[in-house]
Amino acid sequence: MHRFTMFLLILLMPIAASALEIFVCEPEWGSLLEELAGDNAEITVATTAFQDPHRLQARPSLIAAVRRADLVVCTGADLEIGWLPLLLRRSGNAKIQTGNPGYFLAANFVRRLEIPKTIDRAQGDVHPQGNPHIHLNPGNIRRVADALAERLTVLDAGNSNEYQARLEDFQARWQDATERWEDRALQLEGMRLASHHRSFSYLADWLDLDIVATLESKPGVPPSGAQLAALLERLTPNPPLGVIRTPYENEKPSMWLAERLELPEIKLPYTIGGTDNSVDLFSLYDETIRMLEEHNQ
Ligand SMILES: [Zn+2]
Repeated sequence: MHRFTMFLLILLMPIAASALEIFVCEPEWGSLLEELAGDNAEITVATTAFQDPHRLQARPSLIAAVRRADLVVCTGADLEIGWLPLLLRRSGNAKIQTGNPGYFLAANFVRRLEIPKTIDRAQGDVHPQGNPHIHLNPGNIRRVADALAERLTVLDAGNSNEYQARLEDFQARWQDATERWEDRALQLEGMRLASHHRSFSYLADWLDLDIVATLESKPGVPPSGAQLAALLERLTPNPPLGVIRTPYENEKPSMWLAERLELPEIKLPYTIGGTDNSVDLFSLYDETIRMLEEHNQ
C-alpha cells in the first residue's frame, strides 16, 4: 500500500471509530435511528420482522454487540424480558445498564394501552406491563423521536446541532405523512377484524379499527382447538372482514378460522422488512394502510 494512502487511512480511522455504537432490539427503532442519527451511528438490530420480539435467543453475536454499544434502544414494557436482561448482564458493559444514559426504552415515553388490573404472568400473559407493540401509532413515534434525539445529544454533545436539525426535519415529514394517512384511513373507520395476538392494538386505537376478536386467549398463550371452535361459533353470525397477524406469528390458527369463515388471512408487515415494500417507517405505514384498504370491502 502506498505510504500516503496508509497515512490517510490512519487519519480517517479515529473518525470512523467515533460514531455511536447503537444496539437496537426491533427494526422500527433502527429505522427511527437512521433518521435521527444518520452517519453518526453504527446500528445493530437484534431482530427481523420474521422473529418474535417476545422470544429471542441470547446468541453470542448479540452479547458481543451489546458489549461494544454506547446506547441500547429497545421497546421495553417487558417485551424483551425473556432475553434483554440476559444480554445486558452478559455484556459486562456498564454504560448500557438500566438507569444509565445508554439505556433507552421507547415504551416509557408513550401512553400504554391494555394495562392489566392484576399481573398474571404466571398464567402466561406476556403483556404484564400493558401492550408493548407501540410503534403502529404515529403519535407514539413522534414522542419517542423527541426523547431519542435528546438522548443522542446527551451521549454525543458534539453533534447536538445535527441531531436537532435531523429531528426537526423528520418531525415535519412525519407530520405531513400522518395527516395523509389519517385522511386516507377515514374509510377504514369501524373496519371489523380478528387478530391473532394483540399486535395491532395501537393501530386499531389510532384508526378506529374494530378488533372484534383476538385468537390468543391471553397475550402469548396459543388458542386451543376448543377456544377456536367457540370463536368460530361466535363470529359466524357476523364475521369480520379478515384475520390479521404479523409475519412471525404462527399462521395455523388464523388460517383455520379464516378458512371456515371464508375470510382473507392478512399478514400485515408489522415492522420494517415485513413485506418487500416496507423499507422504513414511512413505507411501513403506507403499506399497512394500503393492505387494509385492499381488504375493506
Ligand atoms: Zn405481544
